Amino acid sequence: MKHSTEVMALDWAHTHSRYSAEQCQLAQDVSARHTAALADDFYDCMLADQGAAFFLSHELVQTRLRHAMQEWLLTVFDARHLAQFQAAVAYQYRIGEVHARIEIPVHFIIRGMRLLTRRMHELLHAEPDALPHAVLGACRYISEVTLISVEIMCHAYETSHDRKSRAEEGYRLLALSQNIGAEKERQRAALLDWENQLMFGLSANLPWQQLPRIRKSEFGLWFTHKASHAFEGASETRSILLQLAQVDSLIQTASHHPPGSAQRAQALQGIRDATQAVAYLVECLFEQAGNLESGRDTLTRLLNRKYLQVVMNKEIAYARKIGAPLSVLLADIDHFKLINDTHGHDGGDVVLQQVASLISTYSRGGDYTFRLGGEEFLIVLVDVDGPQALSVADALRRRVQERPVALPDGSRVQVTLSVGVSGHSGHPDYQRLLKSADQALYAAKAAGRNRCVLAEDDTDMPSGAPASHAAGHQPVRAGAR
Ligand code: GH3
Ligand code: MG
Ligand code: MG
Repeated sequence: MKHSTEVMALDWAHTHSRYSAEQCQLAQDVSARHTAALADDFYDCMLADQGAAFFLSHELVQTRLRHAMQEWLLTVFDARHLAQFQAAVAYQYRIGEVHARIEIPVHFIIRGMRLLTRRMHELLHAEPDALPHAVLGACRYISEVTLISVEIMCHAYETSHDRKSRAEEGYRLLALSQNIGAEKERQRAALLDWENQLMFGLSANLPWQQLPRIRKSEFGLWFTHKASHAFEGASETRSILLQLAQVDSLIQTASHHPPGSAQRAQALQGIRDATQAVAYLVECLFEQAGNLESGRDTLTRLLNRKYLQVVMNKEIAYARKIGAPLSVLLADIDHFKLINDTHGHDGGDVVLQQVASLISTYSRGGDYTFRLGGEEFLIVLVDVDGPQALSVADALRRRVQERPVALPDGSRVQVTLSVGVSGHSGHPDYQRLLKSADQALYAAKAAGRNRCVLAEDDTDMPSGAPASHAAGHQPVRAGAR
């Protein structure tokens, strides 16, 4: 992305240099003078389109988007220096990423830009004092800049979209990966089966050609053809492939020496060791696969960030479609660094596990619990509005406080949580919901920790309630006091 940002900025600068200062200035003047009217026209047209209106219907989105469009108009035609072009490119990338996140189809963006360009051309032609060659140049300049902007937005859109598709694919795998456990059992049995056949063959003194080779066994074929691709790149995979080759060559050695000989005994021991190593390594791979594929955090078994976007988009789309409430709790352990410093990292890990397990007991079947990183957890409560979520958060907070964690060294540590709560306001961008929960969490920390704060709305975020505003440890509605 960095590389293409630089390239696009140079390209933009080059485009700009092909127009006279007068033409660029005229374009900028017209867009700046008609900013509000252009933004209104743009959204009036888009709202008249049924398909596009689905993405724009929400009152808050409209008010925000009109404002965002005005900012865009003021910025893109104002760039003059390389740093400004670089900033403009980064800005277009950000817009494209937002579009991808809320899944506005690209053709709506292009359509909107086409309408906007046409309107700007009309305004330019209506300029009373402008000379025709300046008007013509300014029109061309506006078209080129608009196309550059669309090009960058589309690039960002595709990149985000690809990432999202991959994550969605992974998420589907998660649903299918239920059978990972069954496969693991099957392969464990297959490996044992091969080993029994080999021991039987060796004790019956079968010639080498008739002995079962591990690479041709059910297990060996599965590993070579499927698992080694599925687990490609893992160090265990390379090591298993080497061990399989080693086992087959040891079988040959064993069969070439008479029963009872030291060489045969040594080869048999080698086969046993290598087989055990293979069984262990396969077990490790299965464990990793379980964690990776399921997107679960290895310490707490909660979901990790991998599927955050997929889950949030899915739930927000559902909430918007049927008008159901949706809330998030962002919980952070208080003074966790101190717990680590006092009880060691292992002690901290035990605290994380216990808090995670309490969080799991506070979520229902349809909810999602994530460990976002460190000592921060996200709980997505489906079908629950902000005030209800605040009660859930406070019950969780009290439960954590009431249950000191027993550590392996015999000590007990009291843990508290601060929680930011936010109810979904209907905005399609999940990051706004998370951001408002984050700001509510910040307010809870600032108000003295061990408390829950409800963000008023995901568009009207708390600026951090002062400590004196938070009465005791009662849950607070940000801004409501
Ligand atoms: P605050 O009340 O403001 O949240 O303070 P805090 O000490 O909880 O927060 P801070 O962000 O300063 O410290 C978080 C610490 O969590 C720092 C980091 O070393 C530790 N940490 C992050 N991940 C893990 C982990 O997996 N295990 C353990 N034991 N510690 C972790
Ligand atoms: Mg903390
Ligand atoms: Mg933290």
